Amino acid sequence: MASLFEQDIQFLKGVGSKRRALFEKISAPTIGALLRLYPRAYEDFSNPYHILEAPTDVPCCIKAIVSSKIIENKIRKGLIMYKVRISDQTACINVTFFNNKYTIQKLKYGEEFLFFGKIKRINSKIEMNSPHFIPISHSKTIRPIYSQTYGLASHQIENAVKQAMLLLPKEVKDPIPEYIRRKYSLCDLRFSIENIHFPINNYALQKAKERLTFEELLNLQIGLSILKSTNYKQNKFTIKGEEIDEFVSLLSFSLTNAQSRVIKECIDDMKSNKTMHRLIQGDVGSGKTVVAAALCYSIVKSGFQAAIMVPTEILAEQHYNFFKKIFSSVDVNITLLTGSTLKSKKRLIKDMLETGVIDIIIGTHSLISDDIYFSKLGLVITDEQHRFGVSQRAKLASKGDEPHVLVMSATPIPRTLAMIIYGDVDISIIDEMPPGRQKIDTYLVDSSKRVRIYKFIKKLIDEGRQAYIVCPLIEKTETSSNLIAAESYAQELKSNYFKEYNVGLMHGKMNANEKNYIMSKFLLNNINILVSTTVIEVGVDVPNSTVMLIENADQFGLSQLHQLRGRVGRGKYKSYCIMISDSKSQETVTRLRAICQTNDGLKIADEDLKLRGPGDFLGSRQHGLPDLKLAGLMKNINILKDAKNASDEILSNDPELSKEENKTLKAEIKRLFPNINRGYIC
Ligand code: ADP
Ligand code: MG
Repeated sequence: MASLFEQDIQFLKGVGSKRRALFEKISAPTIGALLRLYPRAYEDFSNPYHILEAPTDVPCCIKAIVSSKIIENKIRKGLIMYKVRISDQTACINVTFFNNKYTIQKLKYGEEFLFFGKIKRINSKIEMNSPHFIPISHSKTIRPIYSQTYGLASHQIENAVKQAMLLLPKEVKDPIPEYIRRKYSLCDLRFSIENIHFPINNYALQKAKERLTFEELLNLQIGLSILKSTNYKQNKFTIKGEEIDEFVSLLSFSLTNAQSRVIKECIDDMKSNKTMHRLIQGDVGSGKTVVAAALCYSIVKSGFQAAIMVPTEILAEQHYNFFKKIFSSVDVNITLLTGSTLKSKKRLIKDMLETGVIDIIIGTHSLISDDIYFSKLGLVITDEQHRFGVSQRAKLASKGDEPHVLVMSATPIPRTLAMIIYGDVDISIIDEMPPGRQKIDTYLVDSSKRVRIYKFIKKLIDEGRQAYIVCPLIEKTETSSNLIAAESYAQELKSNYFKEYNVGLMHGKMNANEKNYIMSKFLLNNINILVSTTVIEVGVDVPNSTVMLIENADQFGLSQLHQLRGRVGRGKYKSYCIMISDSKSQETVTRLRAICQTNDGLKIADEDLKLRGPGDFLGSRQHGLPDLKLAGLMKNINILKDAKNASDEILSNDPELSKEENKTLKAEIKRLFPNINRGYIC
């Protein structure tokens, strides 16, 4: 199968250079990649419902007879609507199609078909819009649905996959050694590939998914283990490590025990004979920035440079100001570099970096531009690491000659999972908040309480505080008409409830200057209420704002909600987070209540893991590893544990994967981890 990854997709009939570009867009430029492009869903025609019993608003299959003639209706130029009635012994449905003459002609009056689509019930009427249908002779079919892109429809991908399948050799070499397959009851690769695309039945589909998920996780585990063993390099930037007391004396507060412990863990790394590769996990507000500052100070005092990369200009500026303040009384040259830095200034900064005049540089992606060079870069730090891809983080590290690498993350991951996902780095956890932090009172309410909440916000503002209001959208679109959009919402607040107050608006489509301008106004309390999208999720620090209102809270993940809540409760004032949701789903309500019950990010992550399975953590690509297509959807942690055990077993028997039985596995790992010898995953 491995060699199919070298065979261009154009080899397939009907794929020319134009279509090749489309396949490339969906990450399938080769035959092998196409076979590994798994369907996003299936149309299961194998178990049709009776119309009366069919669920509402979820995709399902029904078996029905065409019981009327097709009626054609020209709605406007270029838009024709077709209506037809279908029925079984329990009820009938009005079906609508648009512009699909060729397909709809196949629906012959009096004949029976299987229809797949969503049923809508409006009063006593039942309707279906543009269902897919097949003759009943195909009744056992489970059809794959692929994520399509403009110009490349699911059925075209399906046809290509069918062709590609014919190129699979009879005996496909399986990367999972046979004894492992037997031990964990996994089916072989050929069976899995066939059945993930064209399942013979639901059981076979299940087995195929299980096996392919296992394979992804096994590859991940093995790749990470090998990376970890190659990650460690001889330390070229050994520090003295005696500067911490001096650093502490520069602060206006004392460090928490957790901060001191984590700083020590990092200092010990940088003093040792190996390069540091460490992840710091610390809940929002736990004080990661000051830890970063301490380490920068150490490296600078030992004569080297440090670089800190953050995902937004707002955050870069905030860190820069914080560093400036701490280091105001000592001789440390700190510089800010972002996309808005003037060209002339950038030129100067480049020179000063290259000649070693700058000790600490704080910036955005600009730091990894090709034309940036350092003279003696000893430490690179990536803050809010999940916002960066692995190659961006690696690029920052490649600006030096194997510098120490630190990444910081505020997205807590349950310990069990972190050990697995971050198998290639050491982990430090800041599990303590700076003193004086109050619990943020958190409430879940429905929208009928909105006006009462506005009153409450007014009261807080009148006491001098500020508020955030977060909405899921920037502007309304047709498909999301029931969600609240920031632009119109801000407008409404300005002209209604909050006429006498300053309401600001910030969202991701604004450019960096606009965002900075709004943020600085908010920081100066020239804006009382900031209506925003999740752009404020990352790191923003305005201690005077004490209330966070989240509209359509059910649209956000638990960790995201927790991050948003972390924007308040950063100063000395009592703070509140209010989530509005009208969701009736029991699962959603349970999830949202979990946020109300605790302020501890790790507990919330544990709860999320229990409720939604590990897929969310793996799928969010925080690790920046090979794409986990199926494992990202996984609901059950057991496969992950099995894969971890299997990986340990394989590597303890054959650490270099040099035995014959592991040859295919080794080739697969090499394909998936092309940078395996360069190290630097974090
Ligand atoms: P995060 O971990 O979310 O990045 P920050 O580094 O932004 O947190 O810190 C949040 C706030 O707490 C900042 O205003 C910072 O100055 C303050 N802070 C950090 N450590 C301490 C401490 N030990 N004592 C008091 N305040 C602290
Ligand atoms: Mg931070």
